[in-house]
Amino acid sequence: MVYKQYTMNGSRGVPYGWRCPKCGKLNLDAYRVTSSATYDDRGLFVSLDSRQQKARNLLDQSLSKRALNTVLNAENRRFDKINFQCKCSQCDEAPAWSNLSLALPKPLTMIRNLSLAAAVILLVLGYFTSKGDLSRKLPLIAAAAALFVILYAAGLLIRRSRYAAALPAIEALAPENLPHMATSGPELLRRLGEEGMLTSEEAAAIGVPPEQLSQPARSGVAEVLHMRAEELRKQQRSKRILAAVVAVAILLVGGSIFMKNQNLKKWQAAMEAADLFAADPQAGDKFVVYETRVNSSGAYKKDYLPDDRLASSPEEVGYILVVEDRKEAVGTYGNIGRKPAYQVFTKISLFDRHTGVYVANSTELAGGDPPKTIKSTQGEGVGSRPSKSEISKAARKLMDLVDDSTR
Ligand SMILES: [Zn+2]
Repeated sequence: MVYKQYTMNGSRGVPYGWRCPKCGKLNLDAYRVTSSATYDDRGLFVSLDSRQQKARNLLDQSLSKRALNTVLNAENRRFDKINFQCKCSQCDEAPAWSNLSLALPKPLTMIRNLSLAAAVILLVLGYFTSKGDLSRKLPLIAAAAALFVILYAAGLLIRRSRYAAALPAIEALAPENLPHMATSGPELLRRLGEEGMLTSEEAAAIGVPPEQLSQPARSGVAEVLHMRAEELRKQQRSKRILAAVVAVAILLVGGSIFMKNQNLKKWQAAMEAADLFAADPQAGDKFVVYETRVNSSGAYKKDYLPDDRLASSPEEVGYILVVEDRKEAVGTYGNIGRKPAYQVFTKISLFDRHTGVYVANSTELAGGDPPKTIKSTQGEGVGSRPSKSEISKAARKLMDLVDDSTR
């Protein structure tokens, strides 16, 4: 199957007219909207011609959407959103609304967006890696997030300040000195006529029929344009609401992940600081789980038992479940070097803090078989450890043992 990929470029003039506030000349020009898109061709039984036509239609749609957006922004006097760069063709006067756009240079915008992506990825990785060492990544996350906020704020400030400085001058202009836009040339001339912006000489010079002058009713294309602009405005509003909701959700989830991790860290530190394996007749009646895995040091875990049976502070701990992994060689790989193949076995022991002795063991749980093959760079193969639910089941049995003996 051969896929064809092609990029299409399109450009469209959005005509606009404005009267020069200095010399009174009516200026007609076109604002250029360009768009480029790459299409991945997946139609196996469709002719290349019709596929290209489809791509062309898609490009057309995006072009007219951008053109409408531009018209909408001009209607709403959002001159910070349209990068008008124009001068009067007669006296060279640059109107106050010209050249107002552009926030940050493109490379800085890219750095800004990448920094946000990096922060989110680090946050997610920090949460889901089994070691849970979020605190080591925290300075990186904070730096990336701070860079994003600073660059975002800088862009906003630059744009806002340029816009705010130009606003009084824009507001002082008469409506006819502001740009009037439409999606086509004839449409623009009709609008200019309807809004009384053309003198009869100008209308005659550019070929607008007199009956179209100063007729405020919208008709034909103008009506369609107006309706689509309304529609677009509504869409933009709901997009903004959606973006705000998503941003709040990200903050809430990120915040709760962070808090959960911090609480767990505090709890683990408290357990580690206490000497839980020393006998203490006054000890409480809750459980704590201490887990040692192959090739890693032990750690207190809030796993395997129901939350309400787990100790939240060292004083509450009456019983310790020690979950211990060991690995056993059950075979070898290849002939040369004889790299070992290990299976993991997990055993749980119950330690009673009141008396300071081990009281019971679970039967040993067998993990998965070692992998059938290993890479040449690997020194050994280790199978998976028993599942969390298997370990949890064995842990609960030991918990029941305690409940039976204290009843
Ligand atoms: Zn002029």
